[in-house]
Amino acid sequence: MKIDRSRYARTVVLTGAGVSVASGLRAYRGPNGVWEEHDVQRMGHVSAIKDRLADTWKLFGAMRGPVRTALPNPAHDALARWEAELHDDQQFPLVTQNVDGLHQRAGSRNVCEIHGNIMYSKCSSTDCTSVRFRDEDPHDVVVPTCPRCGGALRPDVVLFGESLPALASWTAKKALRDCDLFVAIGTSGTVAPASDYVRGAEYAGARTIYVDLEPMNPRNPAFKEEHLGHAEALLPELLGM
Ligand SMILES: [Zn+2]
Repeated sequence: MKIDRSRYARTVVLTGAGVSVASGLRAYRGPNGVWEEHDVQRMGHVSAIKDRLADTWKLFGAMRGPVRTALPNPAHDALARWEAELHDDQQFPLVTQNVDGLHQRAGSRNVCEIHGNIMYSKCSSTDCTSVRFRDEDPHDVVVPTCPRCGGALRPDVVLFGESLPALASWTAKKALRDCDLFVAIGTSGTVAPASDYVRGAEYAGARTIYVDLEPMNPRNPAFKEEHLGHAEALLPELLGM
């Protein structure tokens, strides 16, 4: 069933890696995933911040080149157009687990990046007052240092074992409390955050839709609809574009 965009006042969309696959960016998991080549869970773990930051940079710095040259695909474009065509009384936060910034490049404005953005660096010291900045350097040779305190810099992404940024999480959960439409695209429907978010949306009485290439396994009953296929083909169709 198509989504009649005029019917919903408070939509929350959650996107994951599946949305960026058609832009040539690989998922962590799955066939050809980054996961298969590197010990992602170790190299990208928060414990590496203390003494193995070179590992963190090796893993995430290498993604900067592909992300910089990747282009938004029709799934990103459809979501940007949805937001651009909203009426004044409609809300539409786009919550994303993707760190590639492609939603913004497609034109989405109200984006909540719960896992950070790989094209930004920040100081690894929580006491430092410097702010994150755009940084395209992969830093694959030397761990860069903070211009303010001299501490090590890190990519501005959420590492394994690290909690989500407070403001982004709060914004997402607040929007879910009274949403009337929740759509999860290209992300697992059975693990967090989608599994948490859909429960919140269901409780709020929202229509809940799951869009992904693979069916949920096991099926999460909080999603009332499941649409299977490539996001870049399915989304424009679902949204009547
Ligand atoms: Zn610093």
